[in-house]
Amino acid sequence: MPVIAIDGPSGAGKSSVSKGVAAKAGWGYLDTGALYRGLTWLAQQEGVSAPQEISNLVRGNKLNFNLDPLNPMLVAIDPDHKDKIKDLSAVIREELITNSVSGISAVPEVRAELLTLQRDLIEKSIAEFGGVVVEGRDIGTTVWPDAELKIFLTADVAARAVRRQAQLSELAEVSANSVADSLAKRDDIDSMRAASPLRQSEDQIVLDATYLNLEETIQALWNLIEERKLNG
Ligand code: C5P
Repeated sequence: MPVIAIDGPSGAGKSSVSKGVAAKAGWGYLDTGALYRGLTWLAQQEGVSAPQEISNLVRGNKLNFNLDPLNPMLVAIDPDHKDKIKDLSAVIREELITNSVSGISAVPEVRAELLTLQRDLIEKSIAEFGGVVVEGRDIGTTVWPDAELKIFLTADVAARAVRRQAQLSELAEVSANSVADSLAKRDDIDSMRAASPLRQSEDQIVLDATYLNLEETIQALWNLIEERKLNG
């Protein structure tokens, strides 16, 4: 019942690689960044900014994540009409959210509350799919320290900016410089916060994807899974 923890800085390709590996293995996939983004969206919708109010939003069970790697989706649930769900996948990628998420994710009360939701989703994925690939910033260090395989997926900032720019250009025109600035700013906040910061730990295997394309990165990770006989 393996848990594969993929941590690393913004734009290193964690989502595409994690989804690809999960689909190949038939496991579930959890994007924990989507939960932080969804909470940021919810806080903006409800006009709340105090740490306690934001963490209360998590307890309201208004967010859920569809763990199927072929159709991963962050959804908002209307607590009064549980069958009414709203797909947040696009809205949480907007600039307004991207620029505020690291401020909210640095709040210890918010992290504590989301920790429970993340662990519940990991257990659900293990029960349903027999394994899970989880991506984020603190999965191997805090969320699931007993993960069978812990990866620190990285790439130099220029390579990350080029990839992120290609994704964003479908939504709006953005320059590589402004994307690189925004990535670097987010990495700084994520690495310097006191609560569960983004950091490389000794038990992680570093995968540097600066010169690898998506398929090569998935293959590199797959080789590690096979070497450790984690895929059944
Ligand atoms: O992965 P993504 O870029 O969507 O994550 C958005 C933000 O969520 C990160 O910049 C970080 O502030 C926060 N995050 C976190 N811990 C995680 C996953 C994401 O703090 N495990």
